[in-house]
Amino acid sequence: MRRLTALFPLLLAAAAVPAAALHTPESAPTGPSIAFEGGRWFDGQNFVPAQWYAVEGRLTSTRPERIDVRIDLNGRFLLPPLADAHNHDMQNPHFGAISAIKNLRMGVFYSLQMCSTPDSRNGFAALFNHPGTIDVVHTDACISSSDGHPLGIALASDREMGLEPDINAARAGYDPIDSLAELDRRWPDIAARKPAIIKIILVNSENRQRDAADPKMFGFLGLPAELARPIVERAKAAGIRVAAHADSAADFAAAVAAGADLIAHLPGYRIAPGMKIDAYRLSDAAIAAARRQGTKVITTTAVAAYDFGPRPEHKAPIQAMQAENLWRLHSAGVQLVIGSDMVMGTAVDEILYLDALKLMPRAQLLRLATDDTPATIFPGRAIGTFAEGHEASLIAYDANPIDDLTALRRPAIRVKAGAILADPAP
Ligand SMILES: [Zn+2]
Repeated sequence: MRRLTALFPLLLAAAAVPAAALHTPESAPTGPSIAFEGGRWFDGQNFVPAQWYAVEGRLTSTRPERIDVRIDLNGRFLLPPLADAHNHDMQNPHFGAISAIKNLRMGVFYSLQMCSTPDSRNGFAALFNHPGTIDVVHTDACISSSDGHPLGIALASDREMGLEPDINAARAGYDPIDSLAELDRRWPDIAARKPAIIKIILVNSENRQRDAADPKMFGFLGLPAELARPIVERAKAAGIRVAAHADSAADFAAAVAAGADLIAHLPGYRIAPGMKIDAYRLSDAAIAAARRQGTKVITTTAVAAYDFGPRPEHKAPIQAMQAENLWRLHSAGVQLVIGSDMVMGTAVDEILYLDALKLMPRAQLLRLATDDTPATIFPGRAIGTFAEGHEASLIAYDANPIDDLTALRRPAIRVKAGAILADPAP
């Protein structure tokens, strides 16, 4: 077939029409036919020489009739793009444009934004999901209690900006639900948004009653644990995945028992007020259940610096607990996923932090970063490895990231779905 179409270019052109018509304008393949010469390509283990071309935004090893651009990679090391499965840096208009550029510059081409509603992002949705821009999935429902996270953060930022805290506006930024009756009442609206992923928030749910009596905790609580399962059941029936914010080991166990698809935080990224480090040690039973049902765990380890930065005495216990939990999850066969939760950082910070915990060989960490994580955000999409017909997306580095992982901070060339990216003028 390939030889036939090469012999009859007209046939190829005619055959291309119906396929092209299937694409929406946003996903339409663009860009020149590119020959990538002299590169060393990541094969999941090592960087090896190979010859690839980009044609209509897709990789092929077959030399096309016409080559518009030759890129001399000059021995550079090529990875598929990175992904961040937990961030909040592109879910509001203040940060969206800056963060899109920041991530692309760092080779992070895919992002999962963990707490948004469609109303809050419609105004700037055009910044994302084009061949030359970052691809973003927003969790278009974010369910917490009416006194729960992220309410406290929203009210605090009102105060920081010198505004009178507006509790109704703050609650409009997520989906506050306190009871099963309220869930039933609000569910049709949530399902009608057709979110790809719903976020639910559990925060030290084993102490919810105690914490709710403390006025300082107002806005920093989470759902009653018993609401997790009814939400997951409704979501599953509608074909929607659920990511659960879990703080403590008890939250992790409750989220797994409820059947969550993703745990949004590895417990132990902080020691919350009123909590001891042991509250973050995962139970064997919860780890085994996560493995059985395929619940994945988003790492968010680097964000711990926000806790132990101002409280240095937290650093050693937090890092020991992170390493212990990660090691037990990883050796039990639970799928880990890279997520940073760092609005001012990127997935690269998370990858470097994980590497320092020495959990797995670097090649495996790079597979996690470039294949497993994008596949979690965009299941079934032809990304994550260099293969025939996959999207022609790559990041070229001057140094071998297996020898020097800090090379990830200095991408030399970036191509996304056949579009060669250039930094905008500062
Ligand atoms: Zn978060």
